[in-house]
Amino acid sequence: MNESLASAAKAMLAIVAITFGVDFLSMLILTGLGLLEMSLVAGIVSSAVLSLIIAPPIYWLVAVPIRREYEKRLQAERRAAELGEQAITDPLTRTRNRRGITIAVLEAMAHAERYGHPLSVAMIDIDHFKEVNDSYGHKAGDRVLEGVASILVEHLRMPDKVGRYGGEEFLLVFPETGLDQTHKIAERIRAAVSRSEFDIGEQKIKLTISIGATLFEKAEDLEQLLSRADQALYEAKQSGRNLVVARKAR
Ligand code: GH3
Ligand code: MG
Ligand code: MG
Repeated sequence: MNESLASAAKAMLAIVAITFGVDFLSMLILTGLGLLEMSLVAGIVSSAVLSLIIAPPIYWLVAVPIRREYEKRLQAERRAAELGEQAITDPLTRTRNRRGITIAVLEAMAHAERYGHPLSVAMIDIDHFKEVNDSYGHKAGDRVLEGVASILVEHLRMPDKVGRYGGEEFLLVFPETGLDQTHKIAERIRAAVSRSEFDIGEQKIKLTISIGATLFEKAEDLEQLLSRADQALYEAKQSGRNLVVARKAR
């Protein structure tokens, strides 16, 4: 409110200054041409009075509607950005939802394809998550999902992206990153989750995750990339869970 008062005062002052300047200049010109006889002081006073009289109506008729229109547009843009953000955000974990993370992979794939840079992805699935729901209830399961998501977020670097791809599955995207590096990060995440205790209300529980990681291959599509990550994840599950498996296409 203070800010808008200050900017209203600024606008009013600008209008006063402009009308004063224009009026005073035209008086000088008319006096110079001999069409008007007026002393300098009288000219200044008359311009000042005129500008003070006409500035408020100009402000209300011109500046106020322009400002209102501008504020309305700004609000609409903010709302649109918010809705756009909501459309790609998972309300439970505040990470991207399936659509949001899919967009992120597609963008990263286009970039990797265009510049020939490495790109890897990792699919994460919580081990025996159904047991959490069955033993402690769906709410506890939701708390665990939030907890796992925050561990994932903590471990990511600036260009990396995370999203909830399915019920208890997360997808990580690592632009500019080869498979060895992704394997190391995934291993750190796996270890962090297995060390953590998840607060589910009355008690804390421990659990593990399995991770399948893979490297993007030039010219492949989203389905090929993600199904390879899924296969690696499946291998991790088959090999006993709480594991990271990293697989290249060949
Ligand atoms: P695995 O180690 O093989 O992955 O076993 P799992 O029990 O994790 O796998 P399964 O696919 O059998 O179970 C996944 C469970 O995840 C079942 C479903 O009820 C639960 N789930 C999916 N989405 C949500 C959710 O949003 N909140 C909660 N609380 N549970 C969810
Ligand atoms: Mg699953
Ligand atoms: Mg699972």
